Amino acid sequence: MKKLTSVSTIRYIMEKYGFNFSKSLGQNFLTSDHVVNEIVSGSELSEGDYVLEVGPGIGVMTYEMAKIAKKVLAVEIDSSLIPVLNETLEEYDNIEIINQDVLKVDIQSEIKQRLDGSRPKVVANLPYYVTTPIIMKFLEEDIKVSDIIVMIQKEVADRINAEPGNKTYGALSVAVQFFSEPSIIAKVPKTVFMPQPKVDSTVIRLKVLDEPRVKVEDRKYFFKVVRAAFGKRRKTLLNALSSGLGMEKSIIEQVLLDTGIDPKRRGETLSIEEFGELSNNLWKVK
Ligand code: SAM
Repeated sequence: MKKLTSVSTIRYIMEKYGFNFSKSLGQNFLTSDHVVNEIVSGSELSEGDYVLEVGPGIGVMTYEMAKIAKKVLAVEIDSSLIPVLNETLEEYDNIEIINQDVLKVDIQSEIKQRLDGSRPKVVANLPYYVTTPIIMKFLEEDIKVSDIIVMIQKEVADRINAEPGNKTYGALSVAVQFFSEPSIIAKVPKTVFMPQPKVDSTVIRLKVLDEPRVKVEDRKYFFKVVRAAFGKRRKTLLNALSSGLGMEKSIIEQVLLDTGIDPKRRGETLSIEEFGELSNNLWKVK
């Protein structure tokens, strides 16, 4: 088949297979070789690497990654794309496609069975409607992957990558940075997709840490404190935490002071390390 990024190839596939784009599945296919190369080279694949791709679409990225990597496992929810992928990727024997919803499948056991129990890289042009749940599934469920290189909506990438004090810094920044080290690989304009989405995209790399960034007594409670702190953005930390955690102000104030944090500060100024220490101290008195 001809170049998979070309609009005429996509049209040919639509006609041959009776395929139609599904808005609800976030189907915006890449039509730029340059961007495909940026994602693939940003993934720094080598011949021993295993790749887990979420949402291969018609296989533009899968095709390029299979040239380099040892094996690519692609998880595609849309059954109407499976016969398409069988044709577009037919020349490779190191690709396996599973027709599943990535949010429902037992990813760790699929990796074990189909990717030789390796620690793969996740590489994907993610559907926007489930970007955060997919990223958080890999991180929170402690699925053994080394890196997550994904193209996502620009605004979400900015939030993930934000530092304390920045106006986009929030619970998502803390959640992702708790488990990984983010870096921006490329900015991608909305014009290189078919159909064209409403927003621009960013390719972001998350280097998954061996251990979470801070040691916390209770992970669930840590995230509860983080959510409470960001719950009321214009409130002081003291007010936001006491209403979000349902605790007496005097107790919260004492814990904040003991942790060396001014109760008048706002949640969006706290580093992950400060959140860690604060949640551990609150945990003791809750
Ligand atoms: N990788 C292709 C590309 O770059 O042109 C397609 C990217 S498109 C933005 C997202 C893909 O994810 C679509 O093929 C869509 O069917 C698939 N998808 C959407 N939700 C999914 C889910 N929950 N699990 C697996 N695949 C999903």
